[in-house]
Amino acid sequence: MDLTNKSELINILGGFDFKFSKSLGQNFLTDRNILDKIIEKSNINQNVNVLEIGPGAGTLTRELCMKAKKVVSIEIDKTLIPVLNYVMSEFQNFTLINDDIMKINLKNLIKEQFGNEKFVVAANLPYYITTPVIMTFFENDFNIDSLILMIQKEVADRIAARPGTKEYGALTVGTGFYAKNEIICSAPPHCFFPQPKVSSVVIKLEKYEKPPYSVNNKEMFFKIVKSIFSQRRKTLVNSLSGSPFIKCEKEKIINILNDMGLDEKIRGEKLDIAALVELSNKVF
Ligand code: SAM
Repeated sequence: MDLTNKSELINILGGFDFKFSKSLGQNFLTDRNILDKIIEKSNINQNVNVLEIGPGAGTLTRELCMKAKKVVSIEIDKTLIPVLNYVMSEFQNFTLINDDIMKINLKNLIKEQFGNEKFVVAANLPYYITTPVIMTFFENDFNIDSLILMIQKEVADRIAARPGTKEYGALTVGTGFYAKNEIICSAPPHCFFPQPKVSSVVIKLEKYEKPPYSVNNKEMFFKIVKSIFSQRRKTLVNSLSGSPFIKCEKEKIINILNDMGLDEKIRGEKLDIAALVELSNKVF
């Protein structure tokens, strides 16, 4: 069975009277090279557990099951369950859960399925849940090794952005604080069926074993980041001193910037993650 073969995919889905749902972002991968790259770069082997989000027709799921110790896939669409039961029938290391990744109790699920063992997250994510899904895995401090994700190119550009660019923002800092990113390959619309309107990218986010940033107060650090990037055109001094969440006097921020050797008129978006952490640690 090769589900990257479009006619084979259509044939199987047709047998189950499956109808694609646009709102669930159902564009299935039909490019063998990209599939092979995802598997190669995920470094999955017989000792690795995988949590897959949105298995669709099982194209990636089958390859994951051939390599991994255990694969647990969460699919929201109940009409895909019989399809998946059929295409995955030969795999003993596969567990399918019919649920919404945004609603399921992930803590319980991970404990039940993987115990204390590390796992990799693999997903060709629907665009409407990309950012919340990524941040959920980092903010909850789950025992993840890495996430290997197919995401919209614009989102990948924001994750991998450099300070001072228009793409650099809360998502860059939010992901870069926890993980190193690597763009694996691009996936233009013709690599999917049906074809989406936008281009995608495969990105790997490898969680730091030992975080390079040591922040005194993580909650306040992210409040600073939020204040800076929600008012990008303001100077750093104005966006922080004007924020009801930070409650820090102008004078203090100016002194901190002088201390850090930074211009008083600098905008927050010019600061890299290390500088934002230093600033936060001086404020709180
Ligand atoms: N992994 C398959 C592939 O690469 O061909 C399918 C990817 S398709 C872009 C996204 C999949 O995520 C669909 O199967 C869709 O039904 C599922 N999905 C959408 N929203 C979801 C959610 N909130 N929770 C779980 N699965 C979801």
